[in-house]
Amino acid sequence: MSFNLNNLIRDNLKGLQAYSSARDEYVSDGSQMVFLDANENPFENGVNRYPDPQQRSLKTILAKQRGLDSDQILLGNGSDEVLDLLFRAFCEPAKDVVISLPPTYGMYKVLAGINDIENLEVPLTSGFEPDTDAIKTAITETTKIIFLCSPNNPTGNSLSMEKIKELLTSFHGLVVIDEAYIDFSSNVSWVEQLNAYPNLVVTQTLSKAYGMAGIRLGVCYGAKDVISILNKIKPPYNVNELTQKRAMERVLDTKGVRAEVQIILEERKKLITALNRIAFVVKVYPTDANFVLVKVDNADRRYKDLIKKGIVVRNRTNQPGCEDCLRFTIGTPEENKVLLNTLEQL
Ligand SMILES: *Cc1c(COP(=O)(O)O)cnc(C)c1O
Repeated sequence: MSFNLNNLIRDNLKGLQAYSSARDEYVSDGSQMVFLDANENPFENGVNRYPDPQQRSLKTILAKQRGLDSDQILLGNGSDEVLDLLFRAFCEPAKDVVISLPPTYGMYKVLAGINDIENLEVPLTSGFEPDTDAIKTAITETTKIIFLCSPNNPTGNSLSMEKIKELLTSFHGLVVIDEAYIDFSSNVSWVEQLNAYPNLVVTQTLSKAYGMAGIRLGVCYGAKDVISILNKIKPPYNVNELTQKRAMERVLDTKGVRAEVQIILEERKKLITALNRIAFVVKVYPTDANFVLVKVDNADRRYKDLIKKGIVVRNRTNQPGCEDCLRFTIGTPEENKVLLNTLEQL
């Protein structure tokens, strides 16, 4: 079935006029102007003016780094907002369906629920890969989006490129690849494939490798016509001034980010070796992210033991295919030492 964006857009958006803010109607060219158009307080304090609703400076930097055009980028208040916008743009409430592949990131299901969209779950195989045959069987005319998380949270593995390609070419809707952990991966980003697949959407975030979970910046890369619809429905000032400023500084500091990622990757390697020597560790799963999924003898018990010792990890035992699994985020070298010493004493 071929891809036609017009068949995906929600009916009520087709004729919708986007809100036009003061900063949309007069776009500064940098020259000194007297701004009396937005009912702001005129006394300067650094944040008395509305932020750029299209985040042009930040997008210009990201576009250059990724080899894209700025109009292939949407920015949001965390990737959670970006994912929500995808539902609101392309899924008709009480009618449409999305597919997600558990065990995976919990927000796809929550956002489907909030938007009154059915979330059809097609579990990953025992090797945590997409079951492409089962997915293809599950697809119907009302299936609008397939969410793929790669590297996947909480399993840590990257999904097979061949399987993703198979879905991109056979599905008539959008394939959203959540790359929150791509900077820790040995695989290249799917962003490089955007021009090859009109139905490919890639989301990333500054919350993980970039160390900026607190500023809330999510990034969505896609075809121009997809991005333009998301831009039309996003809240006008969804990325605040402080976030735009901090994000620009951090994104330009490629050396600093890379150095931290390098330390985390070295620590990950050390931690995996050490975890394999812990008596109650049953299995350490391969990981391409800044965390590692570990099967233990009794996850509930080990989780509580660790809390008592002052260490908080994530208990994933209730996720399908993750029975008795804990998820450890890679910390600083000191934190990882504390974790290992504690695990050895349990
Ligand atoms: C942490 C995480 C995110 C990040 O979401 P933000 O809203 O950008 O902080 C997105 N997707 C996955 C799979 C994650 O694990």
